[in-house]
Amino acid sequence: MIGPVRQQQPRGRSLRAVLLAVAYGAVLCAGTEFSGPAGPLHLESKSIGRIEYVPLLDVAFALRLTARWYYESRLIEIRNASLSIDLMVGSRCIVIDRKTAKRLPATVVLVRGEPFVPASFVTSTLAPYAARWAGKTSRNAAVVVLDPGHGGNDQGATGHGGLLEKNLTLDLARRVRQILVNRGYKVRLTRDTDVFVPLESRPTMAQNVGAAAFVSIHANAVTRNVRAIRGIETFYYPTTPKTRSILEHWKRRFFGDATPNRSRELATYIQTKLVEATGTPNRGVKDGHLVVLRTTSCPACLTEIGFISNPTDAALMGRDDHRTKIANAIAQGIISLIGPP
Ligand SMILES: [Zn+2]
Repeated sequence: MIGPVRQQQPRGRSLRAVLLAVAYGAVLCAGTEFSGPAGPLHLESKSIGRIEYVPLLDVAFALRLTARWYYESRLIEIRNASLSIDLMVGSRCIVIDRKTAKRLPATVVLVRGEPFVPASFVTSTLAPYAARWAGKTSRNAAVVVLDPGHGGNDQGATGHGGLLEKNLTLDLARRVRQILVNRGYKVRLTRDTDVFVPLESRPTMAQNVGAAAFVSIHANAVTRNVRAIRGIETFYYPTTPKTRSILEHWKRRFFGDATPNRSRELATYIQTKLVEATGTPNRGVKDGHLVVLRTTSCPACLTEIGFISNPTDAALMGRDDHRTKIANAIAQGIISLIGPP
């Protein structure tokens, strides 16, 4: 299974200097030093084939960009809430914000297992984007997009005792948001009021913010056997998302795509936590060719947190303590996948 097997580690250097150097358009001096308002910083650069290289993970850490390295695909993604850069070991091509392709003067290389980029990646490639993080480096937490199902005229399922799915999902999404925000994550809701949002535009919101995860929240319903059918199930989209993003195309063309695996992981974490927390019957993790999951390029799943048509499930869903359990379980599942903010 492909997954982020490594995150960047703090290096204990004066990394703020790199940030300032980049933000102020520094020049590369003597092959190894960046000068800026905070003074020169020595990055452990190496000369490879007459080109000066610097450690990519150090640069990412200095800029407070989250780095994820997918060993099997050689893909390295570095991002914050407003900028994403995708690089690949052995390639000169990088993709900014999943749409703008650029070329480095030389390929990204591995030196004793560490990815290194040409130093000009810092001094010139990143320069036009410096404003994206300058002055707001404390606000680069991972973004989670929560999607409360239905809304407005689309009420979703109507439950036992008059419970409406659209109200339940919004309440749960707000609770999950609160838990994640308290833990330091950034959270966006596809709707924060009782409005109709077209299905197709929901995953677009995740795409636009470079989300680390997308979770759609729903409640199930059946019209027959309402007393017998209950429980929780979670869906993920089992094949490569349909998207015209250059990055996705590029990833797939050369290395296949890790998203279905990551989405299944996310679905499994959430499903497991939900069943553990609520003791509700486990209907499993399932393939689902669902509109909100089909075009999502980040790990995505849709969880059906119970059957609103079932008297037992509906009674639980009406309870504040049960909703808190569900919200905690969803939040824990997300954190299990994406790691610390
Ligand atoms: Zn629904």
